[in-house]
Amino acid sequence: MKKFLIVANWKLNGNLNFIDKNINLIKKINNLLHYCKIAIAPPYVYIYYLHNYLKNTSINLVAQNIDIHEKGSFTGEISINMLKDIGVKYVIIGHSERRINHYENNNFIAKKFILTKKNGLIPILCIGETKEEKKQNKTEKICINQINSILKICEVNIFYNTIIAYEPIWAIGSGKIANINEIEKTINFIKKYISSINQKISESIIFQYGGSIDKDNINNLFQIKNINGLLVGKASLTIENFISLVKKAEKKMSLLRS
Ligand code: PEP
Repeated sequence: MKKFLIVANWKLNGNLNFIDKNINLIKKINNLLHYCKIAIAPPYVYIYYLHNYLKNTSINLVAQNIDIHEKGSFTGEISINMLKDIGVKYVIIGHSERRINHYENNNFIAKKFILTKKNGLIPILCIGETKEEKKQNKTEKICINQINSILKICEVNIFYNTIIAYEPIWAIGSGKIANINEIEKTINFIKKYISSINQKISESIIFQYGGSIDKDNINNLFQIKNINGLLVGKASLTIENFISLVKKAEKKMSLLRS
């Protein structure tokens, strides 16, 4: 059975001092894990620094973004081969902050997803609805559109062993996680949709939830059978919070799986 994957997304935060101060604590908790695993998405400039710290550990590196070009005259961009070169395993694709602040549309995100997967890294596809879309009961439609933009240009096999993170945009950074029943309903719906195309592919996908998770509100998330990971933003920046969150997840998973 796949381990429960907790991804710490540092976004545009952290520095060398933050890494030096905290990474050994994260390594220490990681050594105690049997049912969970940790991956870290630092800002690009710190990936290689972190890579040196994490070389002999099972903590994986995540990139927060990727360019759609493999090489060439694209000033300021980072390619898939560069990420592979420095030991990155996962790439966050289509985070709502990139969709909103960098005007990334579904088609552009689909290209990044396909490029990442075809080159042997694991895409973490972020999907989810805005507050307005939720009010209009469009959550499922929005999520399916985001998935269909990939299926329009590629076979369903491209989703094999990938990650889909359901992140309601209105919950991110709001301090309030979404309602457990609604998270469950949405994730089940997405899983069923992919299953209706290919059940084996659907079973291979890790479904995560993201949006204002912290150590005090994760307990109920474990009631959701189809969630096998978390995408954590703010709470990953306070090391005590992150470590107790990981400990809680490990305890819950050990109860559920042993
Ligand atoms: C995110 O941005 O992916 C996220 C989950 O952020 P936060 O935990 O801060 O809501």
